[in-house]
Amino acid sequence: MANQSEMDLRYLKGVGEKRAGLFHRLGVDSIDALLHFYPRAYEDWSRVVSIAGAPFGEPCCVKAIVSRTPSKHLIRKGLTLYKTEVTDGISLMQITFFNNPYAAGRLKEGEEYLFFGRVGGRFGRREMASPLVERAETGARIRPIYPQTEGLSSRVIETCVARALEQCGDCLQDPLPDALRQEQGLCHLRFAVENIHFPADHEALARARERLVFEELLTLQLGLMRLKARTRTQTALRAEWDYSEAFFAQLPFAPTGAQRRAVAECLRDMRSTTPMSRLLQGDVGSGKTAVAAAVIHTAAQNGLQCAMMAPTGILAEQHYHTLEKLLGPAGIRCALLTGATSTAQKREIKRKLLLGEVDLAVGTHALLQSDVIFHRLGLVVTDEQHRFGVRQRAALADKGDHPHLLVMSATPIPRTLALMIYGDLDVSILDELPPGRQQIKTYAVGSALHQRVYTYLKKHLDQGLQAYIVCPLVEEGETELTAAQEYAQRLQNGPFRGYRLGLLHGRMKPREKEETMRRFASNEIQLLVSTTVVEVGVDVPNAVVMVVENAERFGLSQLHQLRGRVGRGVHPSTCILISDAENEQARQRLQTMCDTTDGFRIADADLKLRGPGDFFGARQHGLPALKIANMVTDMEALGRAQQAARKILRKDPALAQVENLGLRTAVGALFQSVGETGLN
Ligand code: ADP
Ligand code: MG
Repeated sequence: MANQSEMDLRYLKGVGEKRAGLFHRLGVDSIDALLHFYPRAYEDWSRVVSIAGAPFGEPCCVKAIVSRTPSKHLIRKGLTLYKTEVTDGISLMQITFFNNPYAAGRLKEGEEYLFFGRVGGRFGRREMASPLVERAETGARIRPIYPQTEGLSSRVIETCVARALEQCGDCLQDPLPDALRQEQGLCHLRFAVENIHFPADHEALARARERLVFEELLTLQLGLMRLKARTRTQTALRAEWDYSEAFFAQLPFAPTGAQRRAVAECLRDMRSTTPMSRLLQGDVGSGKTAVAAAVIHTAAQNGLQCAMMAPTGILAEQHYHTLEKLLGPAGIRCALLTGATSTAQKREIKRKLLLGEVDLAVGTHALLQSDVIFHRLGLVVTDEQHRFGVRQRAALADKGDHPHLLVMSATPIPRTLALMIYGDLDVSILDELPPGRQQIKTYAVGSALHQRVYTYLKKHLDQGLQAYIVCPLVEEGETELTAAQEYAQRLQNGPFRGYRLGLLHGRMKPREKEETMRRFASNEIQLLVSTTVVEVGVDVPNAVVMVVENAERFGLSQLHQLRGRVGRGVHPSTCILISDAENEQARQRLQTMCDTTDGFRIADADLKLRGPGDFFGARQHGLPALKIANMVTDMEALGRAQQAARKILRKDPALAQVENLGLRTAVGALFQSVGETGLN
């Protein structure tokens, strides 16, 4: 066998059919996978403390001699207590076990052991209940704790890992080329694997972790960059002439400096023969749409067809209207293609796209259908990108011959996460809001203040202004539909009798949603009661109050998006977050919302509080799962890994050189889970 470590786990001593089945549940099928199944935490048995010096209530390790064989006490039926006393030569400590004759039976009078647990007790008496016990000769060390599954304890896994290291440690092949490893000052794989499982000391553990984190992030970056490289081959679709001044001249407002800069960056990309691959980041309301419009304008004037994809029909329609107004006068022909477009219209639009009689197609996923064929697709824009997977982005781009790509993020994304998800996309940032923007005052209040909130809303509606209320989130067993309908009814029949209310929810047909949004935009509806479908992108400048029920249940970035629906016109605006949450973290999160309107700061706080997995809610973001690297704390390593990945690919774009084959295999393995290897 070429590589013993790829062997099935059943070839490992002590692992039979049954145990192999349990390991399979943990996703571990080979010896190699077991060696890379890292502990989730550690018990520090390496710092031995005296009984008197043991910290109260915290896990610690005490070395002591058993002063008498444990005694057995029947407390009541089904509850047996085993009790003994140990000493470290200075103090005494009582040890107890409940219903654990095995643990108690191992303790022999006069012998020395390590006891790991929390020290408690009263009136100067020290005791440790149900400690973990080891013979003192095994030595004080840092012990691994593994993610376990029923029938497979952390201790059993530890034994298996130890055997695997013994049997196969020598055949571990280091995917990092020697030169790179040395340049980065990283330890060898063998050392890293040994010490991540059985750290010699804290420093060795840190070195092991550093190296494995770097390797994982490097692999991730290589994979993402390879994905991008596929769209980075040469393109014949250049936009040689810059029409942006003509576009800016006919805008109803002066572009901000940041908008000008972003447009210039895009146009510079599109002038070259390497297709643009750019992420446009900007806070809510920073005017990303106008940037997209300017870029589309120049692309279309250069004879390129453009496509813009949005995640919802409402948003696609809104973009369509905005863009049509901005681009139509220049003779740019726009079309809208969503789920709500009639079959006959669809047929007509597809025909025109194919013949090149439409210059810009705005739409939803409907654009991805295989019978949507472009005449000469040269620019693809995706809005609120993180809702589309890597694959969908590629699917739209594949409709052209290496078109330029502009990705607009919905909310600011922390730098680390942006790097992860967008790999090596170039980034333009809109760090300036258009002038005259209203600061949005934000308040977090308890539900006891509902009446006052309603009064406040009515005061604004009476002045001809508008507002949103985001419904309470559904309870289990309740459907979103009935909950939202009942809530809207209750408001209409109660506090808002005589006002014009509208309801927007996720179960409505696209056409109905659009109709409701249209009525809201034209002030036929004064107060829009909505589930979170209103969250993205919608722009109604006359709406000035946003009320969110159950605010604690939303992510901060989501709340920031919701809040961004107001403060878009000339009127001062308010956001009211209603919540009865008591717990400290929830309160802190809502306080963050009240303290700042800076989307980048909120995004950072959100990532720190919730972790990357939840950052985008349940929505899939097409990234492979990481085993060891942490997107919040390993930021510095990420930067290094990205630089190293760039350097490697510059010399060996296909990872075909002998020293890079290990990395190539690692990239394939990491991206297997998301079905994208970047290397086919
Ligand atoms: P977002 O970045 O959140 O997508 P939009 O593109 O929807 O923001 O822009 C928000 C609002 O700001 C729109 O009403 C738009 O017309 C307006 N806007 C954009 N740029 C400017 C500007 N430079 N000056 C004034 N208003 C602007
Ligand atoms: Mg937008």
